[in-house]
Amino acid sequence: MTEKELSVPKEVTALANTLRAKGFEAYLVGGCVRDLLLDREPKDWDITTNARPEEIQALFKETFYENDFGTVGVVTESEDTRLKVIEITPYREEGKYTNARHPDEVHWAKTLDEDLKRRDFTINAIAYEPHEKKLVDARGGQDDIRRKIITTVGEPGERFQEDALRMLRAIRLSAELDFVIESKTAEAIAKNAEELKKISRERVRDELTRTLMSDRPMQALGVAQKLGILPHIIPELEEGVGIKQNKTHDFEVFEHLLRCLQHSADKKWPFEVRLAALLHDVGKPATRRWSDEKKDWTFHGHDVVGARMTKRILQDLHFPKETIEKVVALVRWHMFFSDPDLVTLSAVRRTIRNVGKENIELLLNVRMCDRIGTGRPKEQPFRLRKYMSMIDEAMRDPTTVAMLKIDGSRIMEVTSEAAGPRIGWILHALLEEVLDEPKKNTEEYIENKVQELAKLSDAELKKLGEAGKERREKEDEAAVKKIRSERHVH
Ligand code: ATP
Ligand code: MG
Repeated sequence: MTEKELSVPKEVTALANTLRAKGFEAYLVGGCVRDLLLDREPKDWDITTNARPEEIQALFKETFYENDFGTVGVVTESEDTRLKVIEITPYREEGKYTNARHPDEVHWAKTLDEDLKRRDFTINAIAYEPHEKKLVDARGGQDDIRRKIITTVGEPGERFQEDALRMLRAIRLSAELDFVIESKTAEAIAKNAEELKKISRERVRDELTRTLMSDRPMQALGVAQKLGILPHIIPELEEGVGIKQNKTHDFEVFEHLLRCLQHSADKKWPFEVRLAALLHDVGKPATRRWSDEKKDWTFHGHDVVGARMTKRILQDLHFPKETIEKVVALVRWHMFFSDPDLVTLSAVRRTIRNVGKENIELLLNVRMCDRIGTGRPKEQPFRLRKYMSMIDEAMRDPTTVAMLKIDGSRIMEVTSEAAGPRIGWILHALLEEVLDEPKKNTEEYIENKVQELAKLSDAELKKLGEAGKERREKEDEAAVKKIRSERHVH
């Protein structure tokens, strides 16, 4: 036990003091103590106590009983969102209660030490009493913080068998804190990797998300691969290990993807960019072919195949639909042509239409990750600026049906069309035309054109209206078919 002053918000100290005044013990514990010792800002504040849930609830005005672990959320009046709810958890023991007959009575522990013993890592098993400014650290947590080491409380193999999620927490914490996983703990992860099958995909997703949002995702996923747990996170990434690329690439597929990801983290780019950076070439191993003509590897269709794989990967991890759509679009279109000396404005407009206006900036970020991750220098600034100014220009032109000088109800006014699919076809047929020649987007031209289109049969109109969509789908199908047939040959 040592004395030490840590800066604890007054709301938290007040809560601990309320428990203390009634004769209970109350300690800050876990991530908040660890972060205070590291001079990092704690994400949340956890208190552990020898009071029982009912006793905690009786002491505070507004509380809610959170979960099976006896955690009581206490609502405070703080303005600070991180202090609005403070969690108080009774001392408890490692999961024994799951087999017990009276769970509410038997899973509590009597002493702080028993509670600390069931915690995952030594750095998370330090407690702090804010009134007496007393640190309780019986398991060398402070030493490990100094040495920047993640090591389990107790025998690592046993602790991972009790709860496999801890293996992912080790990886995630190493990425967030820039700590190394201690060698016996790392060995035990390698040995128990299969246990991760028991963990729900949602929990894997949550740890993966935090790993990707940390400052060092490359290091963490590299370690995950070496320890053999990558197949339980995103198995498809494992296919890229050791896969050589063509001559323009310095790195094999997996390392290239990690380097791209790391660049997105260095730039603090949004989550979707990080995921797309990590997955954009996931289709490469499946599409790699040797070209005798080029005397080099080719990866035709890897963007199409990669987008499909990305969709499956992210669905399997139960990411929200909007995230999946964005990342799939970024992977699908990451090969967009951007040479500012050769690209036409109409090609730029089609890129914007393909990936979506709202995603174009993210797509440019993915491209920058791709270049850096290839080992090539940054795009020369003036070339990039030139392409960006083309995007700005193209963004003023219509790239979506909403930007046409007409809408569905006006179409119904100027023709005898009724609501139905024909309206959509007309709008999309107009957009296809305007994408090539934005000057045509005038009321006069468009309304005349609508009259013409309205005369077409359903079949003719549908063909025009779905031309863009159909062309893209056909290209995708053809690419996938080609790759499948090539695969059967092998
Ligand atoms: P952060 O708040 O930054 O996510 P944290 O370490 O506080 O990090 P929490 O999920 O808030 O993580 O957990 C609080 C504490 O509960 C941990 O510090 C640890 O002591 C304990 N803990 C959490 N998950 C486990 C687990 N799976 N096994 C054992 N102890 C755990
Ligand atoms: Mg916490």
